Amino acid sequence: MAYDSENIFAKILRGEMPCHKVYENESTIVFMDIMPMSDGHVLVVPKYPAENIFDLSEEYLKEVVATTKLLSHAMKKALVPSGLIVKQFNGSDAGQTVFHYHMHIIPVYNGAPNKNHGYEMEKPEKLEATAQKIAAEL
Ligand code: AMP
Repeated sequence: MAYDSENIFAKILRGEMPCHKVYENESTIVFMDIMPMSDGHVLVVPKYPAENIFDLSEEYLKEVVATTKLLSHAMKKALVPSGLIVKQFNGSDAGQTVFHYHMHIIPVYNGAPNKNHGYEMEKPEKLEATAQKIAAEL
């Protein structure tokens, strides 16, 4: 499948759709997942038109990993989770639903079960408050 520049993350990157932004640099943007698996679930998105890991350049993959590391430390301080999941999906069979490459960072709290991703919408006020809490530790 060819990259579709009308996907929702491409629109967020172009500023055509809103997001609860946590962090941004030249190569990546981080925002809250609006249907989170747990409180503080964020997405690290490269500013590069790649659908999946097969299309993403190594340069941008490295940038995604560097931002993921930065955010992980900030989330550990801000949210005090007992664990942190870092994962990403490639292809619909693997569970991918938005076809612009992205890394999920998902906090875990003392064994509490996480919800399915992309399932239940979180309140915008809650997402914004958590985004600011994480950003304050960057
Ligand atoms: P994936 O299955 O890896 O493609 O996950 C896509 C994720 O994007 C899901 O967890 C959705 O909840 C999330 N998502 C979908 N639309 C938006 C949006 N407009 N802003 C933030 N997150 C979104």
